[in-house]
Amino acid sequence: MEPVTDALEEICRRLAGVADGAVADYIPQLALADPAAFGLALVSMDGHRYQAGDAHTPFTIQSVSKPFVYALALADLGPDAVAARVGAEPSGEAFNAISLEPGTGRPANPMVNAGAIVATSLVRGADAGERFERIRACLSAFAGRALDVDEEVYASEAATGDRNRALAYLMRAAGALDGDVGEEVDTYFRQCSVRVTACDLAAMAATLAHGGANPVTGEQVVTEDVATRVMAVMATCGMYDRAGTWLLDVGLPAKSGVAGGLIAVSPARFGIAVYSPPLDEAGNPVRGVRALTEVSRRFGLHMMRPA
Ligand code: GLN
Repeated sequence: MEPVTDALEEICRRLAGVADGAVADYIPQLALADPAAFGLALVSMDGHRYQAGDAHTPFTIQSVSKPFVYALALADLGPDAVAARVGAEPSGEAFNAISLEPGTGRPANPMVNAGAIVATSLVRGADAGERFERIRACLSAFAGRALDVDEEVYASEAATGDRNRALAYLMRAAGALDGDVGEEVDTYFRQCSVRVTACDLAAMAATLAHGGANPVTGEQVVTEDVATRVMAVMATCGMYDRAGTWLLDVGLPAKSGVAGGLIAVSPARFGIAVYSPPLDEAGNPVRGVRALTEVSRRFGLHMMRPA
């Protein structure tokens, strides 16, 4: 057998019995996920794919979309114009926290919901439909295949998304968000409902690791500078109020989502993704965190480790 696949399969087998955490249910459709589903995928810089377990099971991208839409906003507007609207400081708070800069309403970073809604609103396009199509096309280019929306999850999130609407109204009142709140939040809900697999997410992470060029398709999706910025914000803010512990233990830029997706990037080496729906109290997938902690330790991937 192949050593990388061996390692992924071994981790998958050993952590399959971990029963901690709970499947997210605040979006009713997400509660239907199978808590036992568990898949790992890795894409290397030469475009090679490795996988184990449920690596082809579809689920919604949720917050794992945030770094990629932030990348699109950076590509559209440039770093200074984006920085004027959304910060790059860890919030030390939960993903849905109502934590905005006093006075300006500017959100702390684009990895929490408030900042992600602003990043989504910055994407260029003539109308909401065109802006969402650009987001879908961008996520698809990162993944290397055409992605679609899970309409049931979208409808479920739109029906229960009042907290995100409230955040958006607060930001608009403070001058931090322009445009039609209903449309901006709706685009964000659609973006979160894009359907992916662990294999797709690994390719997306690998594209960041590869300086913005998809190692499978060869497409330069964003510039190296944009990819570097996105990875930096993932390193400090990607795991919400566990970002510090994560950087200490795993030492890789990462991003989690409430449907159970988790990506990590080993710059210039590979992108890796896990799918496992049960989450810890911070909203990060329990088995995903355990699996990537092991991968980092076993292969000596911590960024602060001398090569
Ligand atoms: N769509 C989810 C929300 O806005 C995304 C949150 C997440 O994945 N952490 O609540």
